Amino acid sequence: MSANPITPTIALDDEGKNHGFLRLPYSRDDSAWGSVMIPITVIKNGDGPTALLTGANHGDEYEGPVALQGLALNLDAAHITGRVIIVPALNYPAYRAGLRTSPIDRGNMNRSFPGRPDGTVTEKIADFFATRLVPQADVVLDFHSGGKTLDFVPFASAHVLANKDQQAACLAAVKAFNAPYTMMLLEIDSAGMYDTTVEEQGKVFVTTELGGGGTATARSIAIAKKGVRNVLKHAGIMPGEPEIEPSIMLDMPDAGCFVFCEDDGLIEPVLDLGDPVGEGDIVARVWPVDRTGRAPIEYRARRSGILVSRHFPGLIKSGDCMAVVGVRS
Ligand SMILES: [Zn+2]
Repeated sequence: MSANPITPTIALDDEGKNHGFLRLPYSRDDSAWGSVMIPITVIKNGDGPTALLTGANHGDEYEGPVALQGLALNLDAAHITGRVIIVPALNYPAYRAGLRTSPIDRGNMNRSFPGRPDGTVTEKIADFFATRLVPQADVVLDFHSGGKTLDFVPFASAHVLANKDQQAACLAAVKAFNAPYTMMLLEIDSAGMYDTTVEEQGKVFVTTELGGGGTATARSIAIAKKGVRNVLKHAGIMPGEPEIEPSIMLDMPDAGCFVFCEDDGLIEPVLDLGDPVGEGDIVARVWPVDRTGRAPIEYRARRSGILVSRHFPGLIKSGDCMAVVGVRS
């Protein structure tokens, strides 16, 4: 295979703070020898652990980009030990378009790993992270929220891993992030995820779902800002102890946590995020959009717990994820 064509415009191991780009050649109609310029900041002070921090893996999720812009501007090299690599928008073309996936190739970054050096724009970015940046990292934090179509209670999460020592190290970092909820997350489709690539390289990995709806709130941004600093403190890169408040522990034991819609229609939420739910309780009704006088279809929880995620737009389609129930652990 060919070498990855992405070139950093700054050295990734220089001391001090450097702002630059990951420059990805992208020849196109409006720029024959043009490039995709992905912003990156590297802050380094001596020897120590490396943290790799990313937002906008999905381009319409905003807590990560906001928190990481602030960190890149305000964190001084003199106040750390080791190195912090900050990429506020991993799927930069998607982020600029305000979309979940890339407008260039429709690439969903979190289904494109480990990527290809000779693939699409999205696959080239994935390959650069998988082969160049993740191997240099000790701890990896990737921010997510629900994007335009989902909303979540704010949680940081770890996955169940075969290597229990690694799982414990990940969970300790997730607890240090200290979102209001802490989740052991079950993925419905883990193939191609950045998470999987990072975990397979044996790294400490923290991911989040901090809100959604295609926006960010003052509250969700505050959670992101505190969380990233807490993870850097936990890793020994920033001095001091993480600021810890109570966090509700949640688990997703099996696929019964998910409720998928089987109809197209107008959704009537019956529960809001964070509400307790019993097995068999109605989580939402789906009304017809094309007539009156017909009863809605009721959707019920298949587990007891709390509502941790819900479909966000007012209209829903067959196949959409309608609700996710988390179980207190
Ligand atoms: Zn996401």
